[in-house]
Amino acid sequence: MGKPVEGGKVPLIVKAEPSGFCFGVRLALQKLERALGEKGRVYCIGEPIHNPQETARLEDLGLVIAESVEEIPENSVVFIRAHGLPEEKKNLLKERNVRLVDGTCPFVLNVQEKAALLAAEGYEVVVLGDALHPEVEAIAASAEGKSVVVPPGGDLPRYLEGSRIGIVSQTTQRPGDLSDLASKAAFVGKEIRIYNTICGATVERQNAVEKVAPEVDGMIVIGGRNSANTGKLFDIARSLNERTLWIEQAGEIDWRWLEGKDKIGIAAGASTPDRLIHDLIRMLATTQGVKEDGR
Ligand code: SF4
Repeated sequence: MGKPVEGGKVPLIVKAEPSGFCFGVRLALQKLERALGEKGRVYCIGEPIHNPQETARLEDLGLVIAESVEEIPENSVVFIRAHGLPEEKKNLLKERNVRLVDGTCPFVLNVQEKAALLAAEGYEVVVLGDALHPEVEAIAASAEGKSVVVPPGGDLPRYLEGSRIGIVSQTTQRPGDLSDLASKAAFVGKEIRIYNTICGATVERQNAVEKVAPEVDGMIVIGGRNSANTGKLFDIARSLNERTLWIEQAGEIDWRWLEGKDKIGIAAGASTPDRLIHDLIRMLATTQGVKEDGR
């Protein structure tokens, strides 16, 4: 990371607000930590949160990450992360007599319910999102096999021409991409129903970055490299300020990057723990003499 700049100006930190854990992640982790405290060992299919440092901390408390249902021992405790889990996998787990600790975010449950409703009412369900993301996998599965996933900027498949199309969105998508998909659907479907299932927490964090990024000399976005929502914050920040860094922890900063910057913006994804944000601010403040903006 190099050495702190000596004799430079004292830059000011402007933290995008809100930043860091959203309601759904905080709630899910509270449930997980309670289960770990009671049971000692808790299994999770996939990482419980898209943040390697937080996942490592939870593993120290007894979390065991499994790749598939088949790896879960009978009669164990299994945590369902905020992204949710397809119903079919939940049923397979129940056959193994496991106790489920359901950390599915209520907003993600809402998307699953809307997808199921659209499918039940005969719509072809289109999910705006990343097909490989576990949240999208669970949403698509709720639509009883009548769904297709379209990425941001993607086109609708031709077989939907003349269909009744029902649209939902992965919670972390951008409103502009949803409206783009809706416009395309208007040229294709004979009837369109859209549920705006983008999560407010995501939009708020994106708006906060849009506000801060243009007014600072450099932006630091902190969060897991495997975090979709952090990646979006980084993309937004960089589109408005090319002097944008994406780090997972404070120690990654090369201090030379701070040279000549009077004002530094900080933003954190919805899966970034408070302690990593505080560490970053503390490190900047103690080694660089940076002041935090009181706003
Ligand atoms: S970003 Fe929104 S939908 Fe996703 S876990 Fe957080 S509160 Fe829930």
